[in-house]
Amino acid sequence: MISYWENKNLLNFDVLVIGSGICGLSTACSIKEKNKNLKVAIVERGILPSGASTKNAGFACIGNPTEDLADLALMGEKALIELVHKRYQGLQILRNRLGDENINYEATGSHEIIFHNQEFDESKIELLNQLLFPIFNTSVFEKMPSHHSYFGFDKNKVQSIYKNILDGQIDTGLMMDCYVTYANRLGIRIFTGTSVETFEDLGNSVEINLKSEVHSIKMKAKKLAICTNAFSKKLLPDLDLQPGRGQVLITNEIEGLQLNGTYSFDEGYYYFRNVGKRVLFGGGRNLDFKTEESLEFELNPTIQNQLISHLKEWIIPQHDFTIERQWTGIMAFGGNKTPFIKQLSNNVVAGVRMNGMGVALSGKIGEELAEMLLN
Ligand SMILES: Cc1cc2nc3c(=O)[nH]c(=O)nc-3n(C[C@H](O)[C@H](O)[C@H](O)COP(=O)(O)OP(=O)(O)OC[C@H]3O[C@@H](n4cnc5c(N)ncnc54)[C@H](O)[C@@H]3O)c2cc1C
Repeated sequence: MISYWENKNLLNFDVLVIGSGICGLSTACSIKEKNKNLKVAIVERGILPSGASTKNAGFACIGNPTEDLADLALMGEKALIELVHKRYQGLQILRNRLGDENINYEATGSHEIIFHNQEFDESKIELLNQLLFPIFNTSVFEKMPSHHSYFGFDKNKVQSIYKNILDGQIDTGLMMDCYVTYANRLGIRIFTGTSVETFEDLGNSVEINLKSEVHSIKMKAKKLAICTNAFSKKLLPDLDLQPGRGQVLITNEIEGLQLNGTYSFDEGYYYFRNVGKRVLFGGGRNLDFKTEESLEFELNPTIQNQLISHLKEWIIPQHDFTIERQWTGIMAFGGNKTPFIKQLSNNVVAGVRMNGMGVALSGKIGEELAEMLLN
């Protein structure tokens, strides 16, 4: 039962955004930055954002060689260059909006590890550098000198390391906390603990049906942005989208840890970094693709054990460590690596399917969605 007051002030907006992950926050903030007079609200089903944005590894990255080469084969040169450029632009938006010191941004570079037993054509690095040169005016990927200690990795396993000089890392928790504070400061309302069940474009307005333990109500807006990433099939059942769960763990603090920055291997399927003196390690979806096509936040023991084995065998073989926490987050993938950004009807847009580098991408996608909605 809705009161007169609720109906008058609390349930009607200029723009509604579904999903308070980094993409939803970015979209809402871009709209408010462009027009501060608009009444904007975000609706989130979780108490916290409940997908990928508070679960990820905090790589502020635009690409790594083997993943870029796989994407090049899949998507072609133009689409790859566009995607890498959007990640870069998105990162600049994120950093400028929130401030490097507030998100603990560190320009550490990212490192892709190549193994002795891996098939890898070194000449392809030059091809990638040439493709990306017109955007960045520099060679993005550098081979690290072979006399380098390689951060203490077992040299019987690691053959070489390529550094992406433009990448860095952030503190994911700080970034999301800071984003919510920033959005609140702009006057954006965030409703949590309520799931959007359906939406309808009524021609001159949009209506969403919300459900929580207490409420089953409707909200109205002139415009709607759907930023529900892996969970989008509920609202957009025909979308080409598969969820992809990511397994993550973090160790205790390790004295004398040599890691500094972000590292990946196997086309980006595995990724690790230092968080102070701890090692955060995630990935391994390719060990068990089918099970990991899931929307459930559950640990996969096979993958988690594989992550621990990698740590013990060659990443930090010289250190004793314990696992302090394990968790999962859910990403969204499609037939290729491009996100799904579309005007669905007169008043409804969607920006979903953010893949594995959505921290970078979201700033740009939010800006594009805002432009689509406001024009
Ligand atoms: C383990 C892991 C590691 C990752 N590491 C990195 C990394 O290091 N660097 C990087 O760039 N990217 C990384 N990513 C990817 C990145 O985190 C995502 O691409 C990005 O967070 C996607 O943001 P989003 O806002 O689109 O989605 P989400 O963060 O999933 O947000 C969608 C939100 O919508 C809400 N929602 C869904 N349906 C409804 C509904 N019906 N009603 C109301 N609310 C709803 C959800 O609860 C959720 O909060 C990683 C992802 C994972 C899982």
